[in-house]
Amino acid sequence: MQCSCGGRSDLVEVGQYYTEIVAGMRCLDTGDWVKLLQCPGCGQLWRTDAWDKYQTLYALKLSSLEDWESVDMETLIKTRMVENHSGLDTSPCLAMDCKQFALKGRAYCVDHFYETGARA
Ligand SMILES: [Zn+2]
Ligand SMILES: [Zn+2]
Repeated sequence: MQCSCGGRSDLVEVGQYYTEIVAGMRCLDTGDWVKLLQCPGCGQLWRTDAWDKYQTLYALKLSSLEDWESVDMETLIKTRMVENHSGLDTSPCLAMDCKQFALKGRAYCVDHFYETGARA
């Protein structure tokens, strides 16, 4: 069976392709707003956010089933957020006592922006 796992990066924003990606996979387990999926074509494991139409959703390739629920996606998502903003601004984050630079075009750094619930 043909699948597209190989052509995808490790961390994929799946909001627009949710049905396409998730519907074709086997759900092995579910956790707290996360699912463990396996591609029936190549066996690739994916940890994905549960569907939420108001949220940016991500899927991450996993190399093993072990502790799949506690895999840290936050760091990877923050890295992606910085990329999405083409980097950092020259002005500091507006949050109290924060020493980091804001994301380009935003008032807050990636950590504080993430705290507001932003994922993109
Ligand atoms: Zn696959
Ligand atoms: Zn900050």
